[in-house]
Amino acid sequence: MQILTGLSQKEIEKITDELHQSKFRARQIHNWIYLKSAKSIDDMTDLSKDFREDLKKIAKVSDVKIKIKQESSDGTLKYLLEYPDGECVETVLMRFDNRANLTACVSSQVGCAVNCSFCATGKRGFIRNLTYKEIIEQVLTIQRDTGLKVTNVVFMGQGEPLLNLDNVLKAMEIFNESLQIGQRRLTVSTSGIIPGINRLAELDMQSTLALSLHAPGHELRKKLMQIEEKYNLRDLKIALKNYVEKTGRRITIEYLLIKDLNDTTECAKQLAEYLHDIKCNVNLIPYNPTSDNDYKRPSNNAIMKFKCLLEHSGKKVTVRLERGADIDAACGQLRGKVD
Ligand code: SAH
Ligand code: SF4
Repeated sequence: MQILTGLSQKEIEKITDELHQSKFRARQIHNWIYLKSAKSIDDMTDLSKDFREDLKKIAKVSDVKIKIKQESSDGTLKYLLEYPDGECVETVLMRFDNRANLTACVSSQVGCAVNCSFCATGKRGFIRNLTYKEIIEQVLTIQRDTGLKVTNVVFMGQGEPLLNLDNVLKAMEIFNESLQIGQRRLTVSTSGIIPGINRLAELDMQSTLALSLHAPGHELRKKLMQIEEKYNLRDLKIALKNYVEKTGRRITIEYLLIKDLNDTTECAKQLAEYLHDIKCNVNLIPYNPTSDNDYKRPSNNAIMKFKCLLEHSGKKVTVRLERGADIDAACGQLRGKVD
């Protein structure tokens, strides 16, 4: 049985060829899948009944199940999806009031090998990579379920996208070409996998790179993120500057704020110093509690003070709105579990 979700126009043409149908039919199927979010072949009402029956014998729209769907009081939706092998990942839809944007936060792996100290996903360890089709299924499941069109995708769910870059790039290509989501509306967030950053730098893409920095000095970063031992701040800076030079794109620096740990005046100054020659915006992420550690979220005052200090250095700084924390859908709270 062929699964239609994730197929390119060309691949769908192979199916229509097999059934002695025209390329135009392939185009119709393609649009039903990606733009009209058909749930089943029967939904594709501009195909003849006979053709639909033939198609149903060899293909279906999707093989992913929604295991759990939760809605936050702020409107954020979190889905736990199950793939045919029984593995599950979350995907989150964020709706921001007053904005037409609908942002899907997708997972790129089941679990994550990077194991940052503050992140619930890392605690699970690495289970497996997702295929590009499994990544695309996440966005399409949201579209099919809500009837809405996703306008932005961020790779900020489970997993380290740059450790599964082939699948992530292929998924981005289909988001762009088939779902018609502009490259500028695709964001890849990484803990700092330098070979992946270097590879992205060579591609002619308009997508956004977000870098999880989280600490301005080697020792503190090592404490928060073991990946600092392999890819340290000094080498990271070289990679980031190279990325900016090659792509001309501004990087988003993500900086997690943890009370009394990396939210001090000293850290803000050190961070400003580290970033002074990197073309970037800064996105501050107040820590979201997870059950596995005793880090705390700074007070709003402390967050604002940190923001002001950075702004004085000339950077554009935003504070990430917390979405879906009441359903454990916020950054760092995803762990692919039911309880
Ligand atoms: N693996 C990638 C993308 C997924 S995580 C990465 O690490 O960049 C998306 C963002 O959420 C990252 O910046 C990550 O550091 C942050 N994050 C992880 N745990 C968090 C927590 N408990 N509270 C707030 N943000 C967290
Ligand atoms: Fe992996 Fe990102 Fe979580 Fe670190 S923060 S463990 S890289 S998902």
